[in-house]
Amino acid sequence: MLKYTLSIIVILTSIISLSAQDLYIPRDVQKAYVKETRSKDGKPGKNYWQNTARYTITLTALPPDRNIKGSETIVYFNNSNDTLRAPAIKLFLNIHKPGAPRDQGAGPDYLTSGMKINAVKVNGASFPWNENPNFFTVQTLRLPKPLVPHDSVKIEFDWQYEISLESGREGMIDSTSWFLAYFYPRVAVFDDYAGWDRMNFTDGKEFYSDFNDYTVTINVPKNYLVWGTGTLQQPEKILQPEYLRKYRESFNTDQVIRIVTKEDLAKKLVTAQNEVNGWTFTAKQIPDMAFGISDHYNWDGSSVIVDNITGKRASAQAAYSDAAKDFSYQTEFIKHSLWWFSNNWPGVVYPYEKLTVYQGFADMEYPMMANNSSQRDTTFTRFVAEHEIAHMYMPFYMGTNETRYGFMDEGWATALELLIGRDGVGNERAEQLFKMFRVSNWIGDASQSQDIPIITPSNDLNGAAMGNNEYGKGALGYLAMKDLLGDEEFKLCLQAYMNRWHGKHPTPWDFFYTFNDVSEKNLNWFWSSWFFSNNYIDLAIKDAVKTKTGYTLTLDNVGGMPAPVDVTVIYDDSTTEKLHQSPAIWQKNPKQSTVNIKTAKKVSSVSLDGGIFMDADTSNNSWKGK
Ligand SMILES: [Zn+2]
Repeated sequence: MLKYTLSIIVILTSIISLSAQDLYIPRDVQKAYVKETRSKDGKPGKNYWQNTARYTITLTALPPDRNIKGSETIVYFNNSNDTLRAPAIKLFLNIHKPGAPRDQGAGPDYLTSGMKINAVKVNGASFPWNENPNFFTVQTLRLPKPLVPHDSVKIEFDWQYEISLESGREGMIDSTSWFLAYFYPRVAVFDDYAGWDRMNFTDGKEFYSDFNDYTVTINVPKNYLVWGTGTLQQPEKILQPEYLRKYRESFNTDQVIRIVTKEDLAKKLVTAQNEVNGWTFTAKQIPDMAFGISDHYNWDGSSVIVDNITGKRASAQAAYSDAAKDFSYQTEFIKHSLWWFSNNWPGVVYPYEKLTVYQGFADMEYPMMANNSSQRDTTFTRFVAEHEIAHMYMPFYMGTNETRYGFMDEGWATALELLIGRDGVGNERAEQLFKMFRVSNWIGDASQSQDIPIITPSNDLNGAAMGNNEYGKGALGYLAMKDLLGDEEFKLCLQAYMNRWHGKHPTPWDFFYTFNDVSEKNLNWFWSSWFFSNNYIDLAIKDAVKTKTGYTLTLDNVGGMPAPVDVTVIYDDSTTEKLHQSPAIWQKNPKQSTVNIKTAKKVSSVSLDGGIFMDADTSNNSWKGK
């Protein structure tokens, strides 16, 4: 009796200590809980704040002159309780300067003299701009007068840069089709846990941006079209009546409207015939703006109802050259994506008025925009579009810090890419693509860099270690959690996270704790194992033992990841049975688990198949009866 009681106590204590075990929290993030800007239930804390700004930008691009000029006024609001003396200013395009730190090398066509700042004013007074030559994409602006809490500062910049001949995330697509992104000096994020984001932009690590209000005017020569983030102001001043009518119609119809064709542009009667047309776009509380221009791209437009309750429509637009045959289908792919993401996963109504895919180079997302390459096979055109459109939710709607925690956006875009793909091209093809592009490189490579914990800051990683952590491993982590909780509960948790944090700056802990809170389960055992450890996927069958009711199968978790798995049982009468095991089998003992096969029949063999949860060593995945 005593022994019995004692062992109960021992078991209880060990279970409690296991489940109550908190996740590793870096010291800077810990401070946010002390200051109550964040909360351990996963909600924004009662003292949560974030800074914001109003950007008014004019950019003049007059091809064939590659020199682009910009001027802007930034009104930056300090909502923190800190006095700000030296804001970090991001000059992303200095990545093109010789000597700038980059993830990869740069050929001569990529190099430019970077962003040349011609004039700076602070609160209306001229300000000497001294760049530290050792820094490239981040400079410090030491304010003449500190910015106190709950006050604002007006900063003005005049600058110029040469558009890159070689196209990366931005640059020239052809001599008269340019993708304009990262083009303006901006105040870096100052947040509640890491302060100023003084991280260099080295290309691979993408965004961390505040939610700002933008008014951007792109000046281009007549007969040029401009596509971009935000609402085009006064289109009647830019587009001639016939094209204005088609443009407007595209916002209200399911039909694909060929708003402008290459032939129309050749007649030079599409735009107003001013020497230069200023295309003004506005957007509120959005993390960034990007634009594409061309004098010969076709322009398709259509729209789709994304919210059945309110009848909200979102516009789908494509801009592309005649040579990109696959892009004539693009508008339909976009429409399907906008509708599908709104109504299935994540099941949150598409948050913007439109989405434009511009035929470019990088397969890169910007708010309401994607710069996508043309593909020979439309399956890939669609695949890339779906991935980039998934990014409209993560990171843009959610405001995650993808420079530090890339798995919070790429992991989701990759998981969503599989979920929409299953619906679009079928389970088998979607999973085949997912395994090929997202899983096999990780699981098939035994090197140490592949097993670095996902939580490792992305900016401290490179190459495959960064890529696999962000995309495949991150996505599988979310999908394994979906398997553990079931679709209904998983969606409840995911939507609660999105509802709590959209338009803010969630950390991974805000995400993990929201799931714990909403599911009313302590899931730290799973998060620790999947996101904070060096684990990989390798499950093994230890043995199968005959029992009174059938067989007991003992599984070893060699790699340690709590992955779901299908156990396929083949009986001696040639019938088979599939027993799906969720990651829950690894909660009590992360190293070993048992599966009971209830049967009166004789089992001839058992095998494990993780599906997309590919196993590093399949030689230990089967068992044969005698
Ligand atoms: Zn992505």
